[in-house]
Amino acid sequence: MEYDLIIIGMGISGISASIYAKNSGLKVLLLEKNSPGGLLNRINKVNNYPGYSEITGPDLALELFQSINNLQIPYKIAEVQEIKVEGNKKMIKTTVGNFESKFVIIASGRQNRKLGLVNEEKLMGHGISTCALCDGNLYKDKEIAVVGGGNSALEETIYLSKIVKKIYLIHHRDAFRAEEALLQQLKEKKNVEIFLNSQITSLIEDKNELKEIVINDKKHLSVSALFTYIGFEPNNSFFINLNILNKEGYIEVNENYETKIKGIYATGDCIKKEVYQLITSAYDGVMASIHIINQLKNKN
Ligand SMILES: Cc1cc2nc3c(=O)[nH]c(=O)nc-3n(C[C@H](O)[C@H](O)[C@H](O)COP(=O)(O)OP(=O)(O)OC[C@H]3O[C@@H](n4cnc5c(N)ncnc54)[C@H](O)[C@@H]3O)c2cc1C
Repeated sequence: MEYDLIIIGMGISGISASIYAKNSGLKVLLLEKNSPGGLLNRINKVNNYPGYSEITGPDLALELFQSINNLQIPYKIAEVQEIKVEGNKKMIKTTVGNFESKFVIIASGRQNRKLGLVNEEKLMGHGISTCALCDGNLYKDKEIAVVGGGNSALEETIYLSKIVKKIYLIHHRDAFRAEEALLQQLKEKKNVEIFLNSQITSLIEDKNELKEIVINDKKHLSVSALFTYIGFEPNNSFFINLNILNKEGYIEVNENYETKIKGIYATGDCIKKEVYQLITSAYDGVMASIHIINQLKNKN
């Protein structure tokens, strides 16, 4: 079966796009490799989203998923491995088979950047985490470290400070880059010790679990966990062949969210843009979807 539109990623961007497409009568399919809701599943408290003053990320993810089910929008849990262009058709290769579509929206988001240390990958899930909401409770009353200096690092430090005994907050610059409100909240935390101008240079393990971190090659800190928030990398490995990325790995799109390949659009956190928030990602998805809907209507 040929779809009108295949959307890759069931974060808020992909889901928003799919709602408009379905309501306009398009044959649409959503593809998601993990959990519907995307990054929302890793946010403890949602801010800056109108209509919800007190909601957790997973609860909002569930509400989005319910919208998909209510509208009977088809979806598959499948990882997209490649997109190929054959004339006007787009062929999507996934872990559960191949799909064909007239249009594609890539809404694949981005993930936390790695520190680049030797045993980091191996210790992921064994003391290293990128999700305070998912893993914070494992370290109740323990000493942990957080690395990073932006909004995410500070938000998550403030959240974790209510669970753990002590946090070492490590940042490589001489000042944080976070919003003033977060800096004020951080100052009030008595169990957070700050290390500026500091870099984690080694991770020491014991029986395959993180045991210590080393700062600037000399200071050893004994910790049960390390949470990393040092920026992001777009999820782009499956469409590298399309040659639509900028130098930082983000997808470049025009004002209609179309890439330089006709019929392939991109929206949300995976594109190059100014503001990476829920509402802007939802907006991107909606606008791309409407552009596609109009093109299909004009053809018929
Ligand atoms: C810690 C933290 C806190 C935040 N707090 C807020 C907040 O309070 N308010 C706010 O407005 N914003 C917040 N944000 C930003 C907001 O979460 C994001 O801007 C938004 O969720 C991005 O949505 P998205 O749909 O573009 O991407 P995502 O939510 O990342 O969704 C992308 C989806 O694509 C899937 N995917 C990727 N590759 C493939 C593939 N090959 N095949 C199939 N599926 C694939 C992923 O599994 C994922 O589900 C926060 C971000 C972080 C990191």
